[in-house]
Amino acid sequence: MRIAIAGGGLAGLAAAWVLAEQGFAVDVYESRAFAGGRAASYSMPDGEATIQLDNSQHILMRCCGNLIDFLQRLGVQHLVRYHSTFTFLEPGGRASRMAAGRLPAPLHFAESFAALRFLSLADKLAVARGMMAVRRAFPRGPLLDTVSMEQWLRAHGQTETALRRFWQPVLVSAVNETLDVISAWQGIRVVYLGFLAGKRNYEMGVPTVPLAQLFAPERFQGQPQLRLHVNSPVTGFEAGNDAVTAMAVKGEPVRADAYVSALPFARLHALFPRLETGMQGVSHSPIAGIHLRFARPVTALPHAALLDRTIQWFFTQDDGRLLSLVVSASRTLETMPKQDIIALALQELAEFLPEVASTPLTGAWVVRETTATFVASPGMEQKRPGPNTAYSNFFLAGEFTNTGWPSTMEGAVYSGYRAAEAVCARCGQPARFAIASAARR
Ligand SMILES: Cc1cc2nc3c(=O)[nH]c(=O)nc-3n(C[C@H](O)[C@H](O)[C@H](O)COP(=O)(O)OP(=O)(O)OC[C@H]3O[C@@H](n4cnc5c(N)ncnc54)[C@H](O)[C@@H]3O)c2cc1C
Repeated sequence: MRIAIAGGGLAGLAAAWVLAEQGFAVDVYESRAFAGGRAASYSMPDGEATIQLDNSQHILMRCCGNLIDFLQRLGVQHLVRYHSTFTFLEPGGRASRMAAGRLPAPLHFAESFAALRFLSLADKLAVARGMMAVRRAFPRGPLLDTVSMEQWLRAHGQTETALRRFWQPVLVSAVNETLDVISAWQGIRVVYLGFLAGKRNYEMGVPTVPLAQLFAPERFQGQPQLRLHVNSPVTGFEAGNDAVTAMAVKGEPVRADAYVSALPFARLHALFPRLETGMQGVSHSPIAGIHLRFARPVTALPHAALLDRTIQWFFTQDDGRLLSLVVSASRTLETMPKQDIIALALQELAEFLPEVASTPLTGAWVVRETTATFVASPGMEQKRPGPNTAYSNFFLAGEFTNTGWPSTMEGAVYSGYRAAEAVCARCGQPARFAIASAARR
C-alpha cells in the first residue's frame, strides 16, 4: 500500500520511518532542500568559507521517550550527549549547580537544590511548596488549562525571585513563552515529567553534530520502502466529501491509499482550506539563536542557564571557543538590527564569563525564527486536533496536534507515530509505535 506524506520535519519523518518498517511504500514530499523542518541548520558565510550552524541549540530530556526511540531507529542515538548537571550563572559569574543526588525521585534534587546560591531560603521553601503542588496537580490534567502558569504559581505562594530566577528560566526554554502566557497545564506537565516523575528524566540531551547531520537525507536511504523527495512542495489537496483523492506536488497529482499531512498548521490551512483543524487563529512565539566564536576558549562549562538577562542559555562547542546563545520568546530582538543583538549578547555574556571581555571575537551570527513554536496558552489543549480527520484516508501529524507536549521534537515524533498508528488501523494492519510519557529511573 502506498502512503504519501506532506512535510519532512520530524513529525513526517517519524511517521514515514515506522510506516516503511511495516512494509508500506512511503513517499515524503518536502518543500525545502533538506529534511528536519524546524530542527534545522543553516550554512552561514564565514569569511571566504561557510559554517553550518543550528538555527538555535535544540535539546531534549531523557523523558522524551518517542524522540529517543526515533533516534535509535535512525541509528544516531550516539550523536546525542546527555548531561546530568545544570549550571545556573548569575551576573558577576557566581555559579550554582543542580544535579540528582542520592535520594530517589521526587526528592533527587533535594541536596543540590538546598545548595543553590541564587535563591534565598524563603525562595527555596516557596519552590519546594510549588513542586509539591505540581505533584498534586498533575493528575488533574488538562483541567488546569484554564489559567496561566504565573497565575497558578502565584496562587501557590511563589516569591517574586522564585518566579524570576527559577520558574521562568526553567519554563521559558521548555515552552518558549513567558509564565504569564503559558497555560498552567503545560507548565505543570513539563515540570512534573522533567523533574519529578523519574530520577533521570531531567538529564539534558545535546546533539554533538549539527541538526542537519543528525537528520541528513542519507539517513533515510537505509529504509528501502521510504523515499524522501526534497525540493518537492505540496501545492494542494483534492478531496471528495469524505476522502482525499490526490495530493498535488509541484502542481502534479500524486495518488496514494492514505495521506498524512505533517505540514505546519498555517501552511495546511492555506493548502486545504476545507479542512477544519481547530488551530485557526493560534499564534507563534519566536526564538533567536546567537552564535559567537572567540579566538580562545572563554569557558570550560558545556552549557549554563543565565539569570536576569536577555540571553538565557549558552551551549559551547570547540572546547569553549564557539558559544550558541539562546533567547526564547525573543520578541524584544525581533526588530533589533543584528549588529545590536551581537553587541548586547557580548556585553551580557561578559557579565557571566569575564574571559569574554578580553578575548577577540572571530565570528558572530544571528538566526531569528519568528514562527518557532505555537503559543501554548490557556485553552489551547481543547483546540489541538488528533490524528484522524473528517476525511477517512487523511491523517494529521505535527507538533501542534494533541500530543500534550509544547512545540518540541518529542511532540513532533509522538504525533508522527500516532498518525502512523491511525494509518495502520485504517489499512487493517493495527500497530503501536507511540510511547506514553514515562518515568526513567
Ligand atoms: C529555533 C528553534 C529552537 C527550538 N528548540 C527546541 C528545543 O530545544 N527542543 C525541542 O524539543 N524543540 C525545539 N524547537 C521546536 C521543534 O523544532 C519543533 O517543535 C519541531 O521540530 C516541529 O516538527 P514538525 O515536524 O511538527 O514541524 P516542522 O519542523 O515545521 O516540519 C514541517 C515541514 O513541512 C515542510 N513544508 C512546509 N510547507 C510545505 C509544502 N507546501 N510542501 C512540502 N513540505 C512543506 C517544512 O519545510 C518542514 O520541513 C525549536 C524550534 C525552533 C524553530
